[in-house]
Amino acid sequence: MINLFKNLRSQRKEQQSFTFSRPLVLLHSDDWGRVGVRDREGFELLRSQGIRLGERPYDLYTLETADDVAAVAGLLQRHHDASGRSPCLMMNACAANLDFRKMREGGFQRVVLKALVKGLPGAWSRPGLFDAYKAGIKAGVLQPALHGLTHFSEVAVLKALAEKSERAELLLKLWEAETPYIFWRMPWVGYEFWDPEEPKENFLAGKRQRELIIQGCQLLSVLFGTKPVSACAPGYRANADTHRAWAEVGIRVAVNGTRDGIRAPHMDEFGLLHVYRNVDLEPSQHDSEVEKYVELAAMCFARGLPLIISMHSINFHSTLKDFRSPSLAVLDQLLSALEAKYPDLIYANDGDLYRMVTKGQLADGSEKVKVSITQQPWNARPAQMGSA
Ligand SMILES: [Zn+2]
Repeated sequence: MINLFKNLRSQRKEQQSFTFSRPLVLLHSDDWGRVGVRDREGFELLRSQGIRLGERPYDLYTLETADDVAAVAGLLQRHHDASGRSPCLMMNACAANLDFRKMREGGFQRVVLKALVKGLPGAWSRPGLFDAYKAGIKAGVLQPALHGLTHFSEVAVLKALAEKSERAELLLKLWEAETPYIFWRMPWVGYEFWDPEEPKENFLAGKRQRELIIQGCQLLSVLFGTKPVSACAPGYRANADTHRAWAEVGIRVAVNGTRDGIRAPHMDEFGLLHVYRNVDLEPSQHDSEVEKYVELAAMCFARGLPLIISMHSINFHSTLKDFRSPSLAVLDQLLSALEAKYPDLIYANDGDLYRMVTKGQLADGSEKVKVSITQQPWNARPAQMGSA
C-alpha cells in the first residue's frame, strides 16, 4: 500500500485521465440505510399533522426492505458480462440515522445519532435487512460505499432549531413521526459537509469533515464487514478537504455527479480516482426510455469512457409505493440491451476500476478479462456529448 501511494504521489505534477479499450458498465446507487417516511404509520401521522404527502415521489421515500434488497440482488445475479461476471451495484450508505427515541426524551432540543450498525431508530423495523445486504455483498452483486455519516448538515439543522421558527416547527413534526426530513420541502437542511445558507464558507472546516469521515467509514466497515473503497458525498458536495480526508481513511475512488459533464476518470493530487456518473436512471422520478440510455452508452464507449449509471435507492423501495417493480423492469431491459449489443462488455465496480488503472487488472486478477488502458493528461473541461 505504501509503494502504491508513492506511485500515485509521483503523478501529482500532471494528473492523468484514463480511457478503456472495452465497454465498461458500472452501477451506482445512493442513500442506502437512510430512513425517510416511516411507512404507512408514519405517513398517516404526518398527514394528520397537516403535511400533504404525495406531491412528489420523495414524499414516499421510506427505506429498503430485505425483500427489496434481495430483488435487486437477484436481478443482478441473472445478468452476466463477456467473462461471466454479474453487474455489481455500488451501494452508497449513510452510517447513522437520527436517534428519535433519545431525541424525544430530550425534548428534540439536540441532534443525537444512532449508528446503523446498532439497528434502526425508534419504531422503525426492517426484519432481515442487514442479512440481505450481506448476502448481496457475498454474492458480489452489491458493494458498500461511503455516502456519509448523515446526509444533512447538522449545523443547518441546529440553526433552524435555535431560531424556533416555522422551520423548527416542521422539523419537530417530522421527528415526532420519526422522519428526519424531506429534502425537497426543506432544502435548507443542506448536505453533510455543506450548509447552503452559511454566508461566508458553505463547507465545513476540514478538521470537522475529517472527524465525520473517519466515523462514517469505521461504522460502515463494522456493519458490512468490509472497508469502503469508494465515496460519494451527499449532494455531491465535496471539496479538497473532503478528498484529502477520504484518501487518509483509505478511500480510493471519489464519485462525482452527472452535472459535472461527461468526463474520463482521472487521478487527483491525493491519489483518488475521480469517476463521473453519466446516466441518471431514476424510474421513480420520470419516464425512462431504454433506447435513450443505450445511445448514451454508445457515445461513452466510442470515447473509451465507462458507462456509470446512477440509480438512487428510492427506485428499489416498495412499502408506501411500489417503485421497485417498474425500476427493476427498466434496469433489466437496459442491461439486456447492453449485453446484446456489446458482446465484449465488462461489468465492473469502483474497486475494479481503481485496480485496472493502478495495476492493469481487475480486482479478482482475472486473466480472462483483458482491457487496454490509455493515459493522457487530464483536461478539466468536460467533453461535449450532444443533447442526449
Ligand atoms: Zn444522497
